[in-house]
Amino acid sequence: QRAAGPREQRLLELLSYGLVALGAVSALLLRFIPMPYGRYSSRRFGWLLPARPAWLLQELPALLVPFALAACIPAWRLPNAVLLSCFILHYVHRALIFPFLIRQGKPTPFFTFLLALLFCIYNGYLQGRSLSTYAEYPSDWLKRPCFIAGFMGWLIGMAINIHSDHILRNLRKPGETGYKIPRGGMFEYVSGANFFGEILEWFGFALACCTIESLAFALCTLFILGSRAKQHHQWYLEKFEDYPKNRKIVIPFVY
Ligand code: NDP
Repeated sequence: QRAAGPREQRLLELLSYGLVALGAVSALLLRFIPMPYGRYSSRRFGWLLPARPAWLLQELPALLVPFALAACIPAWRLPNAVLLSCFILHYVHRALIFPFLIRQGKPTPFFTFLLALLFCIYNGYLQGRSLSTYAEYPSDWLKRPCFIAGFMGWLIGMAINIHSDHILRNLRKPGETGYKIPRGGMFEYVSGANFFGEILEWFGFALACCTIESLAFALCTLFILGSRAKQHHQWYLEKFEDYPKNRKIVIPFVY
């Protein structure tokens, strides 16, 4: 396993820097062009694919690649197995459950689908390979404060993400395709409550893993979802005169 070690480890490190750069460049571009899917979907970015199969197919590599790599983890490396399971669990939900819950979601342009697919292959390999093969933990890692705090952040973040997506979904009655002001849960504090949950989730994961790869993913998520939350916030303010003025963009009480 570790014969290819130093070279592949260097590759993973470079890919991590690449992921942060990708997030930063995306955030810059997203200041001018809203991320073209959902309410900003447009034919200018290619054929329009139905939301459900697009979500399922684009997210699937982030589930399958780490799942295949998890088989490389020897039984005694329990922290690695637990951490990779957290990542896999998120993508079980995102690829296999979330798409089937969508109600009247807008179609996804092919270009956006392709970018998301490539991102999931890239990040699935990065997190999967790092945790299955290279990350090393002391045997009591699962009892250490760093893991426990990070795991709690991951868990609470995922709960907020799923709950907030649930609130959004239930704003529409069957057959409706329009938008309403989300209320309840973390939406009382921020416009991008689902994005806040996901950002918290991946920073918690990064704390629990303490790897450069997981930190890179958390930062990339912050850049991308922070930008999307800002676009949604501005969009709500323009569309709804009665939009709550005290709501922040994505970080409660802060931003
Ligand atoms: P959105 O909040 O844009 O939309 C989520 C769903 O809710 C869509 O089906 C949307 O419909 C519907 N919806 C949103 N707002 C309203 C409203 N005000 N009224 C009625 N319906 C509404 O989220 P995304 O689609 O961008 O993301 C979905 C999930 O994927 C999130 O949990 C997000 O965290 C995650 N994600 C993670 C990324 C990462 O980098 N880790 C990247 C992108 C997403 P419609 O499609 O018609 O707009």
